[in-house]
Amino acid sequence: MAKIPAIEIGEVKKVYKTGVEALKGVSLTVPAGEFMALLGPNGAGKSTLIGILSGLVNKTSGTISVNGVSIDVDHDKAKSFIGVVPQEFNFNWFEKVIDIVVNQAGYYGIPRKEALPRAEQLLKDLELWDKRFTASNQLSGGMKRRLMIARALIHEPKVLLLDEPTAGVDVELRRSMWTFLRELNNDGTTIILTTHYLEEAEQLCRRVAIIDQGAIIREGTVKDLLTNLSGVTLLVDTVEPIRQAELQLLRGYPIKKHDETTLEVRLQHGDTANDVLRKISSIGLGIVNIRNSGSRLEEVFLELTKK
Ligand code: ADP
Repeated sequence: MAKIPAIEIGEVKKVYKTGVEALKGVSLTVPAGEFMALLGPNGAGKSTLIGILSGLVNKTSGTISVNGVSIDVDHDKAKSFIGVVPQEFNFNWFEKVIDIVVNQAGYYGIPRKEALPRAEQLLKDLELWDKRFTASNQLSGGMKRRLMIARALIHEPKVLLLDEPTAGVDVELRRSMWTFLRELNNDGTTIILTTHYLEEAEQLCRRVAIIDQGAIIREGTVKDLLTNLSGVTLLVDTVEPIRQAELQLLRGYPIKKHDETTLEVRLQHGDTANDVLRKISSIGLGIVNIRNSGSRLEEVFLELTKK
């Protein structure tokens, strides 16, 4: 028998009181154990969707099941399968770290003596154990973010929803959070995150759903999305500064000046990098280095969502 999907969203619509149609009939199935990124430009409807899944926002119509339980049939049970890490910190600022995590367990009816060892493990895994007696307002931004994650996991949810988990987090901490999330996913927790760092989605997630103007415009594995990439942008560093005369000679090629000593080469289907690079060399420009322009997923994303 096929495994029950972690999340099944059927034709979900959301119209806010203001008349804004934030979701226009979104359907999405997230298999159990998946690691999925929900991507989209600002205002696309990501937070609304996460809010509906978390039970913070009411949908206007459509169906949602979590681990096979409809939120309309047994809201509490469906909700108990989910852990949420919203963007905004929402602790009681004077409560100590350990109490924030343990008290959360109480909302799910988990006895304190069961919650304490779980909290200890989570705080150790998230490198917050030393801070357990610190009030949350004394923590750094990165620590607060990790505390949000610990709190969201105390009832051992099957699905973890993270809204921009590493926004404002420095590179080093971001990497350690990635490691933590990967391990959590390897241990079986389904993870859905929204992110503005497409590199994050590319590094962490197996699947991606791209949402734009309230509708899912693309959904699939990161691998498939990248294979279907119709264009690739390369940055070519030159030995000498690029002169206007040389740019003239490159006219008709998919080449632009990026900065004094860098050309941007946009390859479409049918273009081969070799032909273009040969052309650059043939006009006397020495090439020192060729780099990819950044996250490849970013290119797919920009292409799909450009107006
Ligand atoms: P995203 O998270 O992708 O940036 P949102 O879900 O926050 O997108 O917003 C989707 C649309 O719904 C936007 O047009 C936004 O202005 C609108 N919206 C979001 N929250 C509310 C609200 N509480 N009341 C009215 N409109 C809202």
